Amino acid sequence: MKASIFKKKWKDQDGKCYWCDGKLLSEANSYVMRSGNETIAYDKDKNIIPGVIGLPELDHLIPRSCGGTDDEKNIVLACDLCNQQKSNRIWVKRKDGKIRQYFISSTNTIIGKVAKKQMIIKTIIKLQ
Ligand SMILES: [Zn+2]
Repeated sequence: MKASIFKKKWKDQDGKCYWCDGKLLSEANSYVMRSGNETIAYDKDKNIIPGVIGLPELDHLIPRSCGGTDDEKNIVLACDLCNQQKSNRIWVKRKDGKIRQYFISSTNTIIGKVAKKQMIIKTIIKLQ
């Protein structure tokens, strides 16, 4: 199931991170090396592939710890950097491309401008 979601999201998002629009490492590439903020991707023949920002990961819009499901509407493809930075927070990408961030407290309450989880779910679904 995960492999098919991955392929679909890769196609839908054109191999780019949902959050930062950075180019993701594809299967055809072999590995990335990081030094500081710089990411360098290489293909199987060890040629540098320009513009790759990171490794693709499946990211839950609403974290599972907050009741998010594995439904494909709740999943996007993100680079490992964004996914790491986002962690257990909820990010909402607005139509203007800006990202709004919500924090989740230890009791799974969402802290942000929108207080109710249901409202955030609606916002996310509306934006897609
Ligand atoms: Zn990213």
